[in-house]
Amino acid sequence: MAARPAPYLDELNPAQRAAVEALDGPVLMLAGAGTGKTKALTTRIVHLLNTGRAGPHEILSVTFTNKAAREMKERVGRLLGQTVEGMPWLGTFHSICVKLLRRHAELVTLDLALGAGGEDPLAAAQTTAQAAAQQDDVLEDLTGQPFAPAAIPNHLKSNFTILDTDDQNRLLKQLIEAAGMDVKRWPARQLSGVIDHWKNRAWTPEQVPTSEAAAFNNRGIELYKQYQRRLIELNACDFGDLLLHVVSIFQRYPDLLDQYRRRFKYILVDEYQDTNVAQYLWLRLLAGGHKNICCVGDDDQSIYGWRGAEVGNILRFEKDFPGAEVIRLEQNYRSTSHILAAASGVIQGNSNRLGKTLWTDQGDGEKVRLIGHWDGEEEARWIGEEIEAGQKGARGVRPHGLDEVAILVRASHQMRAFEDRFLTIGLPYRVIGGPRFYERMEIRDAMAYFRVVTSPADDLAFERIVNTPKRGLGDKAQQKIQMAARQNGVPLVEGARLLLQDKGIGGKGAKELALLVDNIDRWGRLAGDEDLSHIELAEMILDESGYTTMWQNDKTPEAPGRLENLKELVKALEQFENLSGFLEHVALIMDNDSQDAEQKVSIMTLHAAKGLEFPVVFLPGWEDGLFPSQRSMDENGVKGLEEERRLAYVGITRAEEVCTISFAGNRRVYGQWQAQLPSRFIDEIPEEHVEVLTGSGYAGGGYGGGMGMGGLGGVASSIDSRVADANVYNSPGWKRMQARSHQRPVGQPKESLKTVIDLQAVSAYTLGERVFHQKFGYGSITGIEGDKLEIDFEKAGPKKVVAKFVTAAND
Ligand code: ATP
Ligand code: MG
Repeated sequence: MAARPAPYLDELNPAQRAAVEALDGPVLMLAGAGTGKTKALTTRIVHLLNTGRAGPHEILSVTFTNKAAREMKERVGRLLGQTVEGMPWLGTFHSICVKLLRRHAELVTLDLALGAGGEDPLAAAQTTAQAAAQQDDVLEDLTGQPFAPAAIPNHLKSNFTILDTDDQNRLLKQLIEAAGMDVKRWPARQLSGVIDHWKNRAWTPEQVPTSEAAAFNNRGIELYKQYQRRLIELNACDFGDLLLHVVSIFQRYPDLLDQYRRRFKYILVDEYQDTNVAQYLWLRLLAGGHKNICCVGDDDQSIYGWRGAEVGNILRFEKDFPGAEVIRLEQNYRSTSHILAAASGVIQGNSNRLGKTLWTDQGDGEKVRLIGHWDGEEEARWIGEEIEAGQKGARGVRPHGLDEVAILVRASHQMRAFEDRFLTIGLPYRVIGGPRFYERMEIRDAMAYFRVVTSPADDLAFERIVNTPKRGLGDKAQQKIQMAARQNGVPLVEGARLLLQDKGIGGKGAKELALLVDNIDRWGRLAGDEDLSHIELAEMILDESGYTTMWQNDKTPEAPGRLENLKELVKALEQFENLSGFLEHVALIMDNDSQDAEQKVSIMTLHAAKGLEFPVVFLPGWEDGLFPSQRSMDENGVKGLEEERRLAYVGITRAEEVCTISFAGNRRVYGQWQAQLPSRFIDEIPEEHVEVLTGSGYAGGGYGGGMGMGGLGGVASSIDSRVADANVYNSPGWKRMQARSHQRPVGQPKESLKTVIDLQAVSAYTLGERVFHQKFGYGSITGIEGDKLEIDFEKAGPKKVVAKFVTAAND
């Protein structure tokens, strides 16, 4: 077939073009951020299609996230000038492996899953059934059913289920108990961490090396074996199995592997630096025949070491694929030169880099802007204002739409302050790669506790918390409670009380239920107690209910983040007078439909931002301990710090035109001020690429005479911000502020300015008055109820809103 004209090639520079046109044999494109690796990779797909080298079904291309896969499909379509039919094998490692595994599930026998030597699958299936029949007192314990060999499937079926973390942990717990181990000391989540780690390394139970024998109290490997067996019986896989099984299948069935080698004529991999060993093996197996594999990556952007990614895979590439063409790209097309230089300055702090030169001809542009704030709330307020000002164009910078703006945080709990602030001022936003703060599991659990305390008839909330943490109140016990409530026409809490009185429930569950009911009563009384602040009450509820402890004992990688979110939740309470006020605020904002707006600011973690780009980027929370994260440094020392530094590099290099880094001098943790030091990464940005802005509360904003320009002026002149900040911390204004906040007697709700304003606000309105709401626009007041107004909005229709978000219409 004659090649059609290829105008898309004209968009590339010579190095990119070489990478695209070197269609045969292994190619490694190793280059810094924004140099057009993804663009070249996408163009390569287009070129393969356009030259007739391969059809859409014959190209295997792997990206890191679903979002990236979608974008790549779109770009291919755009470049080809037509919609791409299919491309069924363009996706994430996991999505592609699920597809493969559904086709070949029956090959995943117990024997294969355990990784024992290669046998005929049929014979293996028989021995498996026999072996299972002999060994399984465990099985009996677990199912509670008499053992029936015929009922046990000995391989996966194509309709297998993919277990979520909860199911996975429940299963592991059963196995740990059956092994006679104390699940409190040896929690399932810890075992799941160990097993995930092994699966990331592509180790089946038989392949786990003896050096790992001590894992999980010397029982890890045996439990891993039982777990794999149980999964097959349940016709299920966990996430790690998706890759592991496919690798095992390819290793055991060379003919099948061969078929796929012929089918996938070309293989392309983006973000190669973040592949783990299992993914690497999978690629090596598939590319082993024709070796038409093109991998692109950047060692400086390897940020998933904590999840088993091995940057060494890049270095190994040339060894595994001798004669590989290695292409380096040096021109960055994304960012202006100050931004690029700032990022390059930071990453130079790492040792063991492959090292590379980067340049841009996008002009100098704006310097990276640096600003210090009093605290996280102030930071969020300032960024909100900046974004709004930026929509109109400010300081000589062109106007920016909301979808050109991203806020990239190190830890998801940082999102809360932004979400609250943006909801308050009606600035549409989306959270990418995760739920919004108030939708997170732990936040909904905690709020369910608060709801039960403030309104004991809230049955939905009660159901959510009655057995969270586990209190031995399973489905049966909960049905009894439901029944008692229904029969007596009372809420569930009362139903539980009646059930206990009638001794309708016994054992450990009864004791725990009685304790919970008593606690709810007591917390409810304390909610009305003037001497106890609602913040302390909230902490008390989370502690006494065992909810905090549940996460403290949790060994999954997510647990520390969840604890931080809980702390952040308590912090959010400080802006409210009591728990009910807070719950109402959340209910109102969650119910908020202005979120259908077309344009939205994106909020996401730095990890989720990989590969993306935005004209305007805000990088808040650059404080030592938060970023670089203390945990990462504690757990992984210098390696951890270097991974954090790569994350900083990823963050800065997302920005095209404007990059703003900020830090807060204080973060409040459990109602206590905690002084923060600016991130060490700030010191690493070469001074000439930074412009220091005057902070809104930190330096210029009137928190006391001692805190004038001097503090940040010091940063400006030396960039040795930590020295400068030490001056700020010593200033009288700072100390006064610190003293004031610490002196507030615990248990005394602070005289709230907000209440005063709220009261004034309400009394200031009259029925029928025309008002303006930040989100819903103009409307007239149809009802006044406490601090809430019913308003008939001209565009949005009737709504109940909190008065403080409303101003008198002055037109
Ligand atoms: P990252 O390391 O962050 O993933 P990348 O190397 O994949 O970056 P791309 O996202 O492919 O970089 O490209 C960055 C930006 O530069 C994109 O907006 C892209 O369209 C543009 N770009 C890439 N190559 C060229 C080129 N030759 N001419 C003009 N623009 C280009
Ligand atoms: Mg990319």
